[in-house]
Amino acid sequence: MDHIATPAPGVLLSSGPYERIVAGLRDAVETMSGLDPDAVLTAPPVIAREVLETAGYIRSFPQLVGSVHSFRGSKRDWRALAGREDWHRSQEISDLMLLPAACYHVYPQVAGRSVPVSRFCVHATCFRQEATGERGRMRSFRMSELVFLGPPADCLAWRDGWIERMASWLRGLGLDVSVELADDPFFGPGDHLMRDTQREQQLKWEMRVPVGGGVVQAIASCNLHLDHFGGAFGFTTDGGPAHSACVAFGLDRIALALIERHGREPDAVSRCLREKEGTRT
Ligand code: 5GP
Ligand code: ZN
Repeated sequence: MDHIATPAPGVLLSSGPYERIVAGLRDAVETMSGLDPDAVLTAPPVIAREVLETAGYIRSFPQLVGSVHSFRGSKRDWRALAGREDWHRSQEISDLMLLPAACYHVYPQVAGRSVPVSRFCVHATCFRQEATGERGRMRSFRMSELVFLGPPADCLAWRDGWIERMASWLRGLGLDVSVELADDPFFGPGDHLMRDTQREQQLKWEMRVPVGGGVVQAIASCNLHLDHFGGAFGFTTDGGPAHSACVAFGLDRIALALIERHGREPDAVSRCLREKEGTRT
């Protein structure tokens, strides 16, 4: 059930039994979301570049970004390049980026609008140009996110409720979870000010769990964005600035944690997921 390596570090193939666990997790997230199928979205692995620019992602996470480049020259230019080792010399940035987190597809959907309290569920394949490749750190990985938009107090209550709910769901799956206040590592070692502010405001909580090989990884996070996305995309609620929050389930890391806990026998993991689902209200 282990991953199969490819020539690219952090880009892994997975087997049928492993994918059944990932599919079971996706179903469980949807069931927990309690949403209509209309509000459950599946995103492609790319997103408009302008969305990540507007969201401030590129400014904050330059080292994780993956951009899509393409050739826009003439046939003649291409004939001169084709077959050369530096064929990519004239590739130009395109209007697309690789998607770094599922929730970025939600904010442009409500841009410039006044929104009632709104909830979404988004499944996606994400990409981050990670510098290391220890167990559970992949450059391409699956993420499902629940997103909440609304007045400040509602967002805070929703996010805080999910810290509890997420931890007890993961513990119910047999996982040894530690819930920890976090900051986004993208700020880099020098950027203490932003890190400290994020910690003081308690914007990010992570669920950390052993994923095998002695490695502990964050398998899920519960995030409060305040008015960051409401301001960037101009959506409001009740005549005031809308806040937003998201909870992210790292499906590949949760799958690895379940395999680490319950063993490599795929049925044991699937059974545990099914039983858990059966007890959900
Ligand atoms: P966040 O947006 O909080 O950084 O990431 C959300 C979740 O995506 C994390 O809790 C984690 O489960 C998953 N994730 C983040 N980076 C990676 C990665 O490099 N590899 C894998 N497999 N999952 C990741
Ligand atoms: Zn998110």
